[in-house]
Amino acid sequence: MITFNVPPFVGDELKYIEQTVKSRKISGDGSFTKKCNAWLENTFRAQKVLLTTSGTSALDMAMLLCKFQAGDEVILPSYTFSSTATSILVGGGVPVFVDIRPDTMNIDERKIEAAITERTYAIVVVHYAGVACEMDSITDIARRYALTVIEDAAQGVGSTYNGQALGTIGDFGCYSFHETKNFSMGEGGALVIKNPDFNERAEILREKGTNRSKFFRGQIDKYTWVDVGDSYLPSEINVAYLWAQLQRADEITHDRLTTWRRYYDAFQTLAAAGKVELPTVPAACQHNGHMFYLKLKDLSERTKFIDHMRAEGVHCVFHYVPLRSAPAGQKYCRFHGEDIFTTRESERLVRLPLYYGLSAEDVDYVVAAAKKFFREESR
Ligand SMILES: *Cc1c(COP(=O)(O)O)cnc(C)c1O
Repeated sequence: MITFNVPPFVGDELKYIEQTVKSRKISGDGSFTKKCNAWLENTFRAQKVLLTTSGTSALDMAMLLCKFQAGDEVILPSYTFSSTATSILVGGGVPVFVDIRPDTMNIDERKIEAAITERTYAIVVVHYAGVACEMDSITDIARRYALTVIEDAAQGVGSTYNGQALGTIGDFGCYSFHETKNFSMGEGGALVIKNPDFNERAEILREKGTNRSKFFRGQIDKYTWVDVGDSYLPSEINVAYLWAQLQRADEITHDRLTTWRRYYDAFQTLAAAGKVELPTVPAACQHNGHMFYLKLKDLSERTKFIDHMRAEGVHCVFHYVPLRSAPAGQKYCRFHGEDIFTTRESERLVRLPLYYGLSAEDVDYVVAAAKKFFREESR
């Protein structure tokens, strides 16, 4: 069986975990966390990066830092993971969905402006499959209406838009290091902060509402409870795993992009014959090989395709069921405008196995199995 995902493992993870355990410092903000924060800041030219316990907690932090009033609205796509919306609820806001573009599956920047009301506070963009949203237009809208931009870059670690790292373009960026993402620590994430005015409050939120980070830097002589907070510090044991991966980040990204390219090239003939649609990567976007997907005719063909692939020993999966149709989506959110593409396109999309270390032979096997489906179908 060719599985859909295998968590990345480069080889040094156990060595660093052992070092951590032997150092007797296994709670948060130890030496590996400092190294990872600095690595992310330097590599992505970010003002400030703080590791968190998950991509979800990074989103929660971003929303809490925004400090909007209860009932304020936040615009986002409905084709995303629940965390993008739950974080808005954590911040006391109302999620307002707009439609996606059918080519990149990202929020349709041309439909954002019409959804803005006097209660709109922020826009959350989701860089689907590590391919950037149209950030020039979105940044421009945000500037004109004085809105905060939060990037859900959970899938976009290492991707760029016009040369700028995803996560560093908006006011806040959120990364995920879940085992299904390009770089992993089991469960984990990071918050990227653009404006240094937010640094201190972010550290306080992350440290149970205390100014402990300041204390550890020797800036104050005792620490105390000063604000609301939570515990967003990942354990050093997990971070040690991530550090091994960040050191080999280029190799991981290169390996994933090679697989992505191999799929993309192999499906050209089926795409030309109109049997499948391939992912679109706009010229301004350099992606990170996070995901390879095909779009089929409709839901019924996709279901048959997934069954066929399973019978061939290949695990393929569909992705988000739009949040608008979920029970909590109906209860807490509203959809602005018409859902032309969100539901239709999400029902056609199927993801193929793609992970660090997937061999060329396995990719070729997946391609051959997929091609067999279309031969049999046209008979
Ligand atoms: C994975 C993911 C998240 C959540 O990240 P966790 O680290 O699992 O909490 C949020 N948004 C998107 C778009 C994701 O892909």
